[in-house]
Amino acid sequence: MFIDISSIKEGKGQSLVFEGEISLAWDGENTDIELISPWDIHAEVTHTDVGYMLVGKAAGEYRVPCDRCLKAVYSRMEIEIADCFVPKVGGSYQGEEECKVFDKDLIDPSETIIESFLLQLPMKHLCAPNCAGLCPQCGQDLNTSPCQCEAPTDPRWERLNQLKDTEGGGRSGQSYK
Ligand SMILES: [Zn+2]
Ligand SMILES: [Zn+2]
Repeated sequence: MFIDISSIKEGKGQSLVFEGEISLAWDGENTDIELISPWDIHAEVTHTDVGYMLVGKAAGEYRVPCDRCLKAVYSRMEIEIADCFVPKVGGSYQGEEECKVFDKDLIDPSETIIESFLLQLPMKHLCAPNCAGLCPQCGQDLNTSPCQCEAPTDPRWERLNQLKDTEGGGRSGQSYK
């Protein structure tokens, strides 16, 4: 989805409002984060001395792995977007080296959305507030079932447990020896 700026290219100071859905082709750049298309975008593009300023909001769903158990977490986010664009040919604009270049009067806001999304992405993602996570030893998902590692295997713990049993009156069987 492109924003056609041909209607404002003849006059600096003019602006247009763009509203629509945009599909984001993004492979996550080797992360496990995925943006789920389409995203909604509502933005104003203004033709200024530094190029075409895009300012607005975008909203959509994304998928990230749970920090503890790696299960997919789906969430929705609304982000602020702001960027500037300069045409590939024609026009003189100040500070254009910091702007994205576009061609044929068509601005592509998807890169801006992805960059803003990554900046505003929360640091923590949990599938549930009380997610038990994975066992650090065997990798078992402890939300599904406990693993064998949970049973104490250290001989010192074994002895402690025997002491506890005795103090508590002993297990049935022991007292009838
Ligand atoms: Zn989890
Ligand atoms: Zn385990």
